[in-house]
Amino acid sequence: MNKGERADIAIIGGGLAGLSLAWRLADPTFGQHRVIVLEPREQYVPDRTWSYWKLHDHPFQPWVSHSWERWQVATNAGTAVGNSTEHPYQRLPAASLYSAALTRIENAAHVHLRLGCSVDGLVDRGPGDVQVTGPWGELSAALAFDSRPPKLRSGALVQHFCGWEIETPEPRFQTDTVTLMDFQVAQQGAVHFVYVLPLSPCSALIEDTWISRSPQPLNTYAQHLRHYLTQHLNVTDYRLLRMEEGRIPMDPTLRRRRQRSRIVQLGTRGGMVRAASGYAFLQIQRDSEDLARQLTAGARVWRRGLRPQRSPGVLTRRMDSVFLGYLDRHPERAPELFRALFTGCPPEDLVRFLGGVGSFSDHLAVIAALPKLPLLAQLFRGKKRHEA
Ligand SMILES: Cc1cc2nc3c(=O)[nH]c(=O)nc-3n(C[C@H](O)[C@H](O)[C@H](O)COP(=O)(O)OP(=O)(O)OC[C@H]3O[C@@H](n4cnc5c(N)ncnc54)[C@H](O)[C@@H]3O)c2cc1C
Repeated sequence: MNKGERADIAIIGGGLAGLSLAWRLADPTFGQHRVIVLEPREQYVPDRTWSYWKLHDHPFQPWVSHSWERWQVATNAGTAVGNSTEHPYQRLPAASLYSAALTRIENAAHVHLRLGCSVDGLVDRGPGDVQVTGPWGELSAALAFDSRPPKLRSGALVQHFCGWEIETPEPRFQTDTVTLMDFQVAQQGAVHFVYVLPLSPCSALIEDTWISRSPQPLNTYAQHLRHYLTQHLNVTDYRLLRMEEGRIPMDPTLRRRRQRSRIVQLGTRGGMVRAASGYAFLQIQRDSEDLARQLTAGARVWRRGLRPQRSPGVLTRRMDSVFLGYLDRHPERAPELFRALFTGCPPEDLVRFLGGVGSFSDHLAVIAALPKLPLLAQLFRGKKRHEA
């Protein structure tokens, strides 16, 4: 990159949030603004898949590869099943989203993706002058959007997992039902479950997933996956097609300030991951839409910055904190808690709540499904700690 290069908008990080915003800004409406996306990776690889309940449309809809209208949470005490034709559970492979976004950027003369560019400095020096620096040089922009992964807060819960996409020679998977959580595995003092996305009768994505403070070494997930395949699914003959791993912060304190700013945090860094579930895809789409809309609002935005939305709302955040605080203290009760939630709450109310678009009555339906006394005790504990 040339020293002293200039952009109207710098997007730091070309992952889901960066590319989702770049997608909106590639629209000809923004054609007079020069947009630069700075991304350290040299090339995109299929490093993840995004799944979510379809609560609204988004521009990447044409690349959805699978859709299921039925899901389950399995425990030793029974299985909770949910169905919805209105809000099916959908899967979008990262490879398709990356390739669609890169093509759109390539076709928009005003948007530039710079690969191999890591950013280590970001300073607001006044209107029209946000300085972005890295080993490649420096860039000055009117506005910057920062999606670099945040540091995990010590003591906060993390959802950590490793998934294998496998193929079997014989049909082994029931393609009509997603297993969101199978708790019939050793809990080992943490929240531990397996997630199974049946992609076809002969292929599936299977993830060994934990919620705890410290991630496992990779070979521990592998041992659990092998055990689950042989003992629970009776699958011994398979081919590993792809692997993905992740550490998603489940931290209700990770959120941005709702203050007008010329440097706006995006994605996980901007608190778009739903603390109690780890889902972020649709929230990131709503946020990108909102930010792009704000950018059309006139000169003040370019001089003084944007006022980003905070998500989710206060009631949802409070419920997430109580729920996570309780899971942290009683991981052994997770199977019973999730089964109660998926059994007692109407599926559509629950998925709107989990997707961050729940109404007040959806929140009440969730509260009604959960055991009250233990969670009230946790609410009281959290309040006392807050006040201390
Ligand atoms: C394996 C995996 C599976 C997931 N599955 C789901 C799912 O099914 N459903 C769901 O809703 N959510 C899911 N999530 C959670 C969340 O949706 C994703 O993490 C999502 O990618 C978050 O978007 P992001 O832009 O914040 O982060 P990322 O997509 O990780 O993008 C961050 C970008 O910043 C770049 N970067 C890093 N350092 C720098 C630097 N110094 N300078 C510039 N750029 C930098 C990275 O290279 C990366 O491209 C998953 C997460 C993971 C890890």
